[in-house]
Amino acid sequence: MRTGPVTDILVLGGGLAGLSASLYLARAGHRVRLLEQKEYPRHKVCGEYLSLEVVPYLQSLGADLYTLQPKMQSRLLLTGPGGTPVRQQLPLGGLGLSRYALDHFLAERATEAGAHIHTRQKVLALNLDEDGGEVRTQTGDRFRARVLLNATGKRSIVDKVLQRPFADRTAPWMAVKQHMAWAGCPEDEVQLHNFPQGYCGVSQVESGVVNVCYLVRTEALRQAGSLEQLERLFLSANPVLEQLLGDGQRLWKRPLVISNVSFARKTQRESQVLMLGDAAGLISPLCGNGMAMAIGAGRLAGEQVHAFLDGRISRTDMQRNYTRSWRRHFSHRLWWGRQVQAFFGTPGLTDLALRAIRYFPPVLHQIIRRTHGTPDYVS
Ligand SMILES: Cc1cc2nc3c(=O)[nH]c(=O)nc-3n(C[C@H](O)[C@H](O)[C@H](O)COP(=O)(O)OP(=O)(O)OC[C@H]3O[C@@H](n4cnc5c(N)ncnc54)[C@H](O)[C@@H]3O)c2cc1C
Repeated sequence: MRTGPVTDILVLGGGLAGLSASLYLARAGHRVRLLEQKEYPRHKVCGEYLSLEVVPYLQSLGADLYTLQPKMQSRLLLTGPGGTPVRQQLPLGGLGLSRYALDHFLAERATEAGAHIHTRQKVLALNLDEDGGEVRTQTGDRFRARVLLNATGKRSIVDKVLQRPFADRTAPWMAVKQHMAWAGCPEDEVQLHNFPQGYCGVSQVESGVVNVCYLVRTEALRQAGSLEQLERLFLSANPVLEQLLGDGQRLWKRPLVISNVSFARKTQRESQVLMLGDAAGLISPLCGNGMAMAIGAGRLAGEQVHAFLDGRISRTDMQRNYTRSWRRHFSHRLWWGRQVQAFFGTPGLTDLALRAIRYFPPVLHQIIRRTHGTPDYVS
């Protein structure tokens, strides 16, 4: 067992929320250590459409995403389970950027800013006290800090350790992601195709490959028996997906699969630990806003932690202010995300929603506006 150095801030998890907070706090002059269980670069299950709202904030921290040559996406194609299409301009738009490139890029920027990023360090245990806490990782290393930020995503061992209520409950959704070569998705378009028991996002990323990522009820896999059958029986009920799965070329031997995807309500703080990104609440992937929310939460936490470590506010104020600002920015988006998912995830209601959007296009604009932020909220 090795005792690691004492530091100002320990960030658990190096996805977008953890990297955003690390970059912000390292640039503000604090000692930051981030513990990530994997190594960069690595793929992640995600639709890889990043709302433009966070681009100015990242630019202000010296992370210019345009250097990664993302695809500029400004149009949305929605189809119902039977393939009926609805097309619209996206009010703000976003970038098609792989998590492989994006997370690695932010990890490099955070390191340049002075953050210490420890990869292959899976957090297994926490020991909290009034002055912060200590963390133990799988390698037996220990790290101590005055402030702990949990950014380990939708569901992790940290949630179990902190005895968060959702950690032991199973959830009815699973997600599958594959990169493909397919000519049916223009680079400026994000496609969202419904099928019985789920929906599938299709869009290009920086290299021109097409990200195909779907969320589906686990029950459908149980009925189908295998992923291959699931795609044949459920996804291919939508003619656009049938064409994609028939004509597209799969670039990976096996897709990435995650299970137990939960949209349960969560708290933004447990004891001393602030929760960031999906650890604080996961918005329906239909909204295409989880990544921007994770990056935004990194900034909101960064501001409060910075004020605390500078001696301008107390620990209690830091915790209270963060929770309040998180709720002010994100609670209503999660609420809207739940309503949208209820409509698009339910047969019959999906067609009704699409008809409403087709005959009254402002409905979709309203939905997008209510599930997204504006570029100034994080600038
Ligand atoms: C199917 C699907 C499609 C989506 N599509 C989109 C989309 O198109 N656009 C969008 O904006 N959002 C999308 N999202 C949401 C988006 O992916 C998440 O909101 C975002 O990744 C949250 O970032 P995060 O940093 O909170 O968590 P993550 O990105 O999950 O990062 C968590 C990190 O913590 C690490 N970790 C976990 N446990 C430990 C541990 N014990 N010790 C150390 N490290 C640990 C993990 O390895 C990981 O790197 C989608 C989500 C799903 C499920």
